[in-house]
Amino acid sequence: MSMPKTIPFLPRQAARAAPPLDVHRLRQDFPILLQRVHGKPLVYFDNAATTQKPRAVIDAVRHFYEADNANVHRAVHELSERATEDYEAARVKVQKFIGANCLREIIFTRGTTEAINLVAQSFGRANVRAGDEIVVTALEHHSNIVPWQMLCWEKKAHLRVVPITDSGELILEEYEKLLGPRTKLVAVAHVSNALGTVNPIEQIIDLAHRHGIPVLIDGAQAAPHLRLNVAALDCDFYAFSGHKIYGPTGIGVLYGKARHLELMPPWQGGGDMISSVSFEKTTWNELPYKFEAGTPSIAAAIGLCAALEYLDEVGLDALAAHEERLLAQATARVNDIRGVRIIGTARRKTGVLSFVVDDPPLAALDIGTRLNLEGIAVRTGHHCCQPLMDRFGLPGTVRASFAVYNTVEEVDVFAEALAKIVASGRGKPKVVGLPTTRVEPTYPAAAGASPEEVAAELVEAFDLMDDWNDRYQYLIELGERLPPMPAELKTEATRVKGCQSTVHMFARKKPGTADVLEFLADSDADIVRGELALLQKLFSGQRAQQVLDFDIHSLMQRLGLDSHLSLGRRNGLAEMIQRIRHFAGELAGQAREKP
Ligand code: PLP
Repeated sequence: MSMPKTIPFLPRQAARAAPPLDVHRLRQDFPILLQRVHGKPLVYFDNAATTQKPRAVIDAVRHFYEADNANVHRAVHELSERATEDYEAARVKVQKFIGANCLREIIFTRGTTEAINLVAQSFGRANVRAGDEIVVTALEHHSNIVPWQMLCWEKKAHLRVVPITDSGELILEEYEKLLGPRTKLVAVAHVSNALGTVNPIEQIIDLAHRHGIPVLIDGAQAAPHLRLNVAALDCDFYAFSGHKIYGPTGIGVLYGKARHLELMPPWQGGGDMISSVSFEKTTWNELPYKFEAGTPSIAAAIGLCAALEYLDEVGLDALAAHEERLLAQATARVNDIRGVRIIGTARRKTGVLSFVVDDPPLAALDIGTRLNLEGIAVRTGHHCCQPLMDRFGLPGTVRASFAVYNTVEEVDVFAEALAKIVASGRGKPKVVGLPTTRVEPTYPAAAGASPEEVAAELVEAFDLMDDWNDRYQYLIELGERLPPMPAELKTEATRVKGCQSTVHMFARKKPGTADVLEFLADSDADIVRGELALLQKLFSGQRAQQVLDFDIHSLMQRLGLDSHLSLGRRNGLAEMIQRIRHFAGELAGQAREKP
């Protein structure tokens, strides 16, 4: 089964030879980039999560809704004909863009996640039996782990994991050892979203095919950066998302070899995927419609088509060369900052720079929050790769990821902001908790007669500060005064789950009282310590029923915390509040039982 070895994507040398892009002109195509954030020009380095959209894409989607909107494949009227024509033209564009042999092999999905689930639920359920194995790697996104886990649980099959080196490269000798008669599929990322590693998928596919094993490639992070030719690659399935390649959300692509797709049962049932329906017998539509049940994301497919045409105009070679320059510059600048450690140093990478700050130890969340105040958007956390973070023994990293519209000047702005953050953390002693319980910890006493009274003071203090920068600083300073929490109290039981950083809370009934709550708390992130200090001010030392009666959500709104914190942080804060309310509920219940 080994296939011809044509070069399936851009070799590095060619990328270097490409003429430089006129990035400053190209940026004019992206209206969103012109804005300021926190008074600074936006530097958008969260492109691995989603890319910004050029005007051509926005216009294509708008034009569809203004001029052609109708459902596809179903009517004889003019608008439906136009909508169908444009939707199918998008399929033709995708086919050409990824080098598939025929249109029947291009299935539109909602994104990479749905494409992988489709293969797991259709191909996987039809072909995997008890005792069989599916091979994934240690650097997969959760989207390329969980669908296979679910299948394995259902079928009593096993997931096998290819290990990686410390630099974030797959260990191919170990991969080879995992392949055998029980292996039913290999599912591997083309490019790691957390590290940027470009995997040697030609070799991976070739080795699997020698055993007759089909291969699915998660191309979510490759399609936006590398020239693709799925036919030359000879992969069996290839998945990617529209929104990561300058197109709209809600659209993605599953490429599958026609011979697999023909044999696979449909996944979802509904309109469009059938040829005929009766209560006795239903027959399936031909490919690719067999896998496109219901009304598809028509406008998004049209937007994706515009995005791919835009990329053709820019030129993938020029794009790759430009991103390579950005990565080289960012790597050099970040390497120059003492105390910063780059995670993921593979020989071949796309524009992803993941790092942690060891000296002084700074939480990824704090770095991301501080960069945001400088108008710089990066991603922090586990990047939907928890097993990969575990492999490196890290809760998460900071990730800067680049796209065609980013500039070398932006890389410099980012590196300078990062250097300042690291420098300002240096020399500031970090309270990490008392080492033993021999020192009796001090629980914070009530900061006012009631939570309402404290809240009024907080509102007054926040109102005196004009912008979010000052409020952020105020929170950080509150956090610096958080009473230390003994190390023994930081256990699994006191860990608050659902937070992006490590958070511990320990609450108790204040000795000598019937229903007064007091608590200690700590986090590795300064901003979270600030939030914890705020909650302590409000609730520690107050009666349980007063804690329960207090409208914390209105206060959060009034302080602007609901709009200025990211969704992830809001969720983390909600978990902490939930923890306090739960304890207050128990305490109030006990007090009622024993008046
Ligand atoms: N696979 C990888 C490597 C990714 O980076 C992502 C998204 O970050 C996904 C899969 C999931 O993509 P989507 O959320 O668009 O379905």
